[in-house]
Amino acid sequence: MFSEKMYKLGSNRSVIRELFEYGKKRKAEVGEENVFDFSIGNPSVPSPDIVKETLIRILSEEEPTAVHGYTSAQGDPGVRKAIAENLNERFGTTFSADNFYMTCGAAASLTISVRAIITPQADEIITFAPFFTEYRVFVESQGGKLVVVPPKEPDFQIDFAELEKRITSKTAAIIINSPNNPSGVIYSKETIEGLSSLLEAKEKEYGREIYIISDEPYREISYDSKVPPFVTKYYRNTIVCYSYSKSLSLPGERIGYILVSNEMNDWKKMYAAVCGAGRALGFICAPSLFQKLITHTAGLTSDLSVYAKNRDLLYNGLTKLGFKCVYPDGAFYLFMKTSEPDTNAFCQKARKYDLLLVPADDFGCPGYVRIAYCVSTDMIQRSMKAFAELAAEYNQ
Ligand code: PLP
Repeated sequence: MFSEKMYKLGSNRSVIRELFEYGKKRKAEVGEENVFDFSIGNPSVPSPDIVKETLIRILSEEEPTAVHGYTSAQGDPGVRKAIAENLNERFGTTFSADNFYMTCGAAASLTISVRAIITPQADEIITFAPFFTEYRVFVESQGGKLVVVPPKEPDFQIDFAELEKRITSKTAAIIINSPNNPSGVIYSKETIEGLSSLLEAKEKEYGREIYIISDEPYREISYDSKVPPFVTKYYRNTIVCYSYSKSLSLPGERIGYILVSNEMNDWKKMYAAVCGAGRALGFICAPSLFQKLITHTAGLTSDLSVYAKNRDLLYNGLTKLGFKCVYPDGAFYLFMKTSEPDTNAFCQKARKYDLLLVPADDFGCPGYVRIAYCVSTDMIQRSMKAFAELAAEYNQ
């Protein structure tokens, strides 16, 4: 017999994956150029040339058994040192290799961090709607309870009154994600400071640590000179979950890290718990070749300028058509209000024009859709006619 819980997880695809698969089928039917697929967060800009050049050099010059061999479970010390030095330079922090655990991307970073922190069947983890749908899977599959704070419209910063109501003696951690998938919002310095002081007060009240798990795969994708505050500078009990999937356009290579802040009391014990969770979950020794690559490219990004261009095109085009959109500060998603209360009915109508939009119900925010604009600028331009037809259905 198999696990019912895992069967359910495996047989019900996420709404995003389902739409992505539908898109593939539809493109085969009517031609790639006639489908406006805004479903998935796959970067549309290539990695910088240095990625290919470095990989070729590593493969041609370094000893194959070393290139493809196991590293330490927590990752090669060289790559962890390179990442620490890069972050210290950018953010004025004082990390060393010992604060980092290399992972297979942000998904692994999050799963490991949750496992390292919670006591199953006892603890709760809080997050904010709209949220990356997989948080529920990562928390609930490990015996935690995910508690969701409702969205604060229209700016989608944190509603502190609603958050405070949900912090209890069972709260082990808060997951934040800025720049945000799916809203595109960056938490302001004031928001991070407010969160930090509320959590410090609640730690005292309940006599336990409450950790921030800062999920940051979009850290470098921000616009208009906005820079997301670096959370370890504001809150001591912080764990950062990072990935090179988006910044360096390497989602299929599965490489990222966990940073356990050295400001945390007992950070060495937390780091050991992260190592233990990585071991328990089988997430040891992230892909060796890509660890080596990151040793040479820590801090570099793809040319992200096209996302800003896409954002402007899409935001300006859709607002002109009467759609109400959240102005994205970062990431590559536009969050748009549906023109009728039933999100799915709206998405079905959009499908008539081969516009593939993700309903935000699973993100905890019905009445919105997510439009991933990590696509070609040309597709956005061509999609405007279809959006205009959709707007006309609603007499906008
Ligand atoms: N967290 C957020 C907010 C994401 O959007 C994603 C992927 O889209 C992940 C985590 C998982 O990232 P990775 O592909 O690096 O595992």
